[in-house]
This record gives sequence, structure tokens and C-alpha cells, in this order.
Amino acid sequence: MVFEEIYDDILKKNEEFGKSQRAGIKERFSPTDLGGCQRKLALQFFNAPEDISQEDDNVGRRVLSMGNIIHQELQAKLKQSLKEIKSEHYFRVPLNKENPDIIFSGSCDSLMFHDTMGIIALEYKSINGFAYKYILDEPKKEHLSQLNMYLHYFKIDKGVIIYYNKNDSTIKEHKIKYDKELAEKDINFIIETQREYVDKLKLPEKDISYTKTAFPCSYCKFKQICYEGKNWKSEHYNKKVEEKIKLNDWVTKETIIVESVKVKETFKIDLSGINEDIEESSENYNIF
Ligand code: SF4
Repeated sequence: MVFEEIYDDILKKNEEFGKSQRAGIKERFSPTDLGGCQRKLALQFFNAPEDISQEDDNVGRRVLSMGNIIHQELQAKLKQSLKEIKSEHYFRVPLNKENPDIIFSGSCDSLMFHDTMGIIALEYKSINGFAYKYILDEPKKEHLSQLNMYLHYFKIDKGVIIYYNKNDSTIKEHKIKYDKELAEKDINFIIETQREYVDKLKLPEKDISYTKTAFPCSYCKFKQICYEGKNWKSEHYNKKVEEKIKLNDWVTKETIIVESVKVKETFKIDLSGINEDIEESSENYNIF
């Protein structure tokens, strides 16, 4: 009992340290945001309060910690026989040329070179035996979207999702080919979330097929405020509303750019500084 408490205490402190390192309001999208609940994503951007019950979940922290260990084990062992190009390959890019103000960032578990497959992106997922049964035929759609976006931005066409069953250590892998249509669909999902909800300070409706006791809601950190109608408006959200009232309109960087171009055309004002910024962000897009 004593050591269990010490262990949980350390895990909690590590988690708090991790949170403090990532402290700040969510400002960019990541591949792990895809394929999930849009309402939850908007709540993250509004910095809505998380459920109290979720804050002290010792078992959840232990499971997460074991998942990280399995992840590191797979990464380290595969590296011994495949040529590793990069592990935890971090990238941060404007979403696309039309939306340079929407930032997309993430980190691919491993980029490897395989003799017959060439360059491949690997994504490791550890899951319990119950969930494992459901990925035997095909991967979870959110994992597929995640890996597909790495392929999209790294401009490679092959990846593998490796599932590790935590109950019996069996492994299932799904080979993925780059899917342009899926990438476009996911990019549109991000644009819609930003433009229709985050920019307008609106909360998306709850998906009518969701229930409180089933995935994804059963694991969601916003379940209480979402289902019990509790106030989800945070200090950050209220500040954004005030700013919006002050501006009398919600001006995005994109509209500033459009306006700048119009002003330049009309008055021939030298806005070369602004144009350089735009060009720079477009260049960042070509990360390879
Ligand atoms: S509780 Fe369910 S519907 Fe509400 S934000 Fe979470 S996942 Fe979305």
C-alpha cells in the first residue's frame, strides 16, 4: 500500500510536470485531433474546465505510463534492424497555402527505411484486449487519419500502424497507403472547426449518435460539462468574447491578409513586410 502510494504520487507529479511544460492554451491542431469529436476539440481550444473526477485517476495514469514503456520498447527494438531516419519526428507547418494562420503540428513515432518498402512512417499503439478485437480487421479511424496526415506532410506514401495488445502481448500491424481524399477530408474538418467554431466562439452540437456511457464520451474529460449542462466558458473564452466585442468583429489573420492586399492595390502602399511573412509561411509548408 505504501509503495503503491509512492508510485502513484510520482506518476501524478510527472503528469503535472508534463502539463506545466505544455502549459498554455491550445492554439494549433495536431494529427491526434482527427477522427474524433469536434465538440471536444472546440472545448480544448476554449480551455474549458476538465471533469474533476478525471483529474485524480491513478489507474488511468498507470495505464498511460505502461503504454509509454511499450511504445519505447517497440521503437528501440525495431531500430536495431531497420535503418532509422528519425524517431519522434516533430513538425510544425501552416495547414495549407490557403490557411497559413492555422497551424498544424505533430510528431511521428518513427520514420524508418525498409529494404523493400523504402521510407515508411510507423505509429505505435498499445491497447487493451477488449479494444484489440476491434482493430483486427482494420485500424481505428482516428489512427488511420493520424498516420495519413504524417504521410501527407512528409510526402511519403507508406506507413504502418502497429497495435500491441497489453493483455497478451500479441501484435497486429496494418499497412497503410497514402489516401489523398482522406487527407483532404481531414484538412476540411480542421478548417471547419477553426472557422465555424473556434473563430466564431461557438460550440459544435453533440453528435446525436453519442451516448454518455459509450466511447468516445465515456473517456472524455469534458463529459460533465457536456452532458450535465455545466458552464463550459473559461476565463480564456470570456477574454476572447471581450476582444471580439472590442474589435466589433472577429478578424482573422487571413482577413487581415486579404484586406492588406486590397489596401495595397488601392493605395499602392508598401506592404512588402507583410508579403514576406506570407511567403515565409508558405515556404515552411515544403518541409522536405
Ligand atoms: S462528452 Fe462526448 S460529445 Fe461531449 S465533448 Fe466529450 S466526446 Fe464530445
